[in-house]
Amino acid sequence: MVSAKSDMVSRSDISVSIPVTLVDAQQSKLQLKEGVYVAGGTLLQLNWEANEAMSKQIISLNNLTELKDIEVIKEGQKHFVKIGALTTINECLHSSIMTKYCPLFVTACQNIAAPAVRNLATLGGNVASRIGDSLPVLLVLDAEITCLINGEKKTKKISEWLKESRDSSFLLIDIRIPYKEKQFSYYYKKVGRREAFTPAIVSVSGMWRFEKGELLDVRLAVGGGSHEPVRLYQVEELLKKDGCEYSSELVFSKIINEFNSYSDSFFNDQYRKKVAANLIISELKKQFIY
Ligand SMILES: Cc1cc2nc3c(=O)[nH]c(=O)nc-3n(C[C@H](O)[C@H](O)[C@H](O)COP(=O)(O)OP(=O)(O)OC[C@H]3O[C@@H](n4cnc5c(N)ncnc54)[C@H](O)[C@@H]3O)c2cc1C
Repeated sequence: MVSAKSDMVSRSDISVSIPVTLVDAQQSKLQLKEGVYVAGGTLLQLNWEANEAMSKQIISLNNLTELKDIEVIKEGQKHFVKIGALTTINECLHSSIMTKYCPLFVTACQNIAAPAVRNLATLGGNVASRIGDSLPVLLVLDAEITCLINGEKKTKKISEWLKESRDSSFLLIDIRIPYKEKQFSYYYKKVGRREAFTPAIVSVSGMWRFEKGELLDVRLAVGGGSHEPVRLYQVEELLKKDGCEYSSELVFSKIINEFNSYSDSFFNDQYRKKVAANLIISELKKQFIY
């Protein structure tokens, strides 16, 4: 069933394939009807413990060593940090490249899970899940992903990819954070039910810069919990028009209108929307709205 280069291990009725190349990994996924990619396995484990059906066909990504690097890349005019999908959250946290080029992203990593989980949890798994706490930050950083879909390698903006429907052959290769030469203001905030080691009620992030008194490149994003991470384009437009002139009440109501939330046993959608709006407003107020 899996390609010759893959190493197949069977325990009772669970099969584990361990491909060593990207092409083998994708072929396994296409051939195995119920095949599931496993990187750190931390999110899948949570889901399986929560009674989600466990796949009997595991495709371990662990031997794809080419997905484990953090590099600074210059391609023509493009200057970015490339993070292999199998890089753990802990490696992102302790990388000197990340600290130098992507300090906002490092702040987000500090807020993901607990140290023991961060040792296993990969950035690729966080992104591929489409609900990870890294996504609001990656949206405001205008990050891109490189992936393999049906044998074709593609690089696209995360904001675009999140709008696409899921493709079962999708294999995430790397995450690319553009290097920003200009000075930006930025923030990342996550609110959970307890202070630490808890799923988010919401995670928010934002960045912007001023040039000659003009507000430029403002980007705001919300995610966390089971939210689909999204940019708040309408709020951004409002602020860009004349950020300093708007009242916090108006911006608050725009956020409530634009951000779609959900209710669960703990909080309803209205509460989550208010938390997100209050977090964003408090950060904007520090700098430019009244
Ligand atoms: C106690 C605990 C606390 C947690 N707290 C947080 C938290 O605060 N914030 C947060 O965001 N998450 C949290 N998580 C969830 C999880 O740890 C993270 O989302 C983690 O980054 C997932 O990475 P992983 O490598 O373990 O993914 P896995 O569990 O291996 O995979 C997750 C999903 O991504 C897919 N996948 C993985 N890699 C790829 C790839 N390269 N290409 C295509 N698909 C891929 C898998 O098929 C699966 O669907 C927590 C988990 C636990 C157990």
